[in-house]
Amino acid sequence: MSETQEYVPTVIKAEEMDPKFKYRISKKHGAERLMLCFQCGTCTADCPISRFSDFYRPRRIARMVQLGLKDMLLSNDALWLCSTCFTCVDHCPQNVEIAGVVRVLRNIVVQEKGVMPLVYKELASNLLETGYVYSISESRHKRREMQGLPRLPKPNLEHISKIFEAAGFSKILENVSTFEKVKS
Ligand code: SF4
Ligand code: SF4
Repeated sequence: MSETQEYVPTVIKAEEMDPKFKYRISKKHGAERLMLCFQCGTCTADCPISRFSDFYRPRRIARMVQLGLKDMLLSNDALWLCSTCFTCVDHCPQNVEIAGVVRVLRNIVVQEKGVMPLVYKELASNLLETGYVYSISESRHKRREMQGLPRLPKPNLEHISKIFEAAGFSKILENVSTFEKVKS
């Protein structure tokens, strides 16, 4: 994966555009309304990640998909910056689910390039092994108890494992390559 770079507007060459890309993405769950984006910029104005990233703008992601700039998008680590807060989804006047579009793009990166950030692999492995994305130490459980809070529910690890297997995610976790830093 390439690192994210400072965004410098460039002339787009016709050969960089894949006209079928937007149709492929729009068929995926969560990305169906992508073509309704009219570039108002509300999503970018509200996106917490856009405030500190030079490149990451949900509006830009939508436009790049519409233009079919597939390789440029899929090779940019900035895709992994989205925190999935859904602010863009809540505020879009066209009900475009940009967070869903980003998820679809990430899935393509994992499936076709076999790569994901290390932290994602670690979170998924934690979920598989403990039922929680972050491992929760016994001292945390004890502190909850001391404060009169109920014990956290015991996850059903067998069910989680079955879901991972059925979704093909166990195999992906075994084979995926990772990279450590996602630059903004
Ligand atoms: S808020 Fe919606 S319509 Fe406006 S730029 Fe973002 S995705 Fe497009
Ligand atoms: S879901 Fe992602 S793209 Fe949308 S506002 Fe949050 S960080 Fe930005």
